[in-house]
Amino acid sequence: MSAVIALDQVTKRYGHGETLVHALRGVTLNVERGEYVAVMGASGSGKSTLMNILGLLDSPTSGSYLLDGVDAGTLDEDSQSLVRNRRIGFVFQSFNLIPRTTAAANVELPLVYAKIPKAERRRRVALALAQVGLEDRADHQPNQLSGGQQQRVAVARALVTSPSLLLADEPTGNLDSRSTADVLDLLDLLHAAGRTIVLITHEDEVAARAGRLIRLRDGDIVEDTVLKGRFVEGVGA
Ligand code: ADP
Ligand code: MG
Repeated sequence: MSAVIALDQVTKRYGHGETLVHALRGVTLNVERGEYVAVMGASGSGKSTLMNILGLLDSPTSGSYLLDGVDAGTLDEDSQSLVRNRRIGFVFQSFNLIPRTTAAANVELPLVYAKIPKAERRRRVALALAQVGLEDRADHQPNQLSGGQQQRVAVARALVTSPSLLLADEPTGNLDSRSTADVLDLLDLLHAAGRTIVLITHEDEVAARAGRLIRLRDGDIVEDTVLKGRFVEGVGA
């Protein structure tokens, strides 16, 4: 196995003087290829800060981050956005789909940024939509889809570039229980297919689907537990 994520003593501070906040206090963490990691912690514990650093949306104040062995600290902004586009798929609580734009066009967007030729884009979009079970909704716009379907489109968009890492920040936070189950089943399938997933959640039932649980408190990792996941033990599926 090779580490997709290697964080070494990562700190993040915001502000200064009276307003100084230690959002991360020296996080050291390795995530191997194929792991499914849930990150939990109270509001303000540093989850989103961690996610932003993992997603190259923000840089650490100190410490190092290797993504797929590449030191993020050595990349200029252009290389960072290239790596972000190619190697990371994001899923957010609020779906972040472009309104009045079809599911297919939403999923296609990262491939347009990556300058993939049109025929290849079509092929990959169809595959990604099939993977999330929405091949028959390709021409629907977000407002013509349920919340759960919109989030599955967002997952397809996150996957379409075949990223090394899928980052999901409260992906089921805006969904009813039925749609939550659909999205979690989809993440299970992706994990079974070998995807590396880091998921932020505050719900125990959601975290329980992962193979490993990391708990943050006040900017520190205070728990790192292997869960007896179905795919870890291979029983009880
Ligand atoms: P969580 O996602 O676990 O709720 P965050 O990572 O968003 O936590 O925040 C961790 C801490 O850092 C909090 O105290 C928050 O107020 C602070 N923080 C986050 N982003 C900023 C920012 N851009 N400027 C100043 N403080 C911030
Ligand atoms: Mg947050």
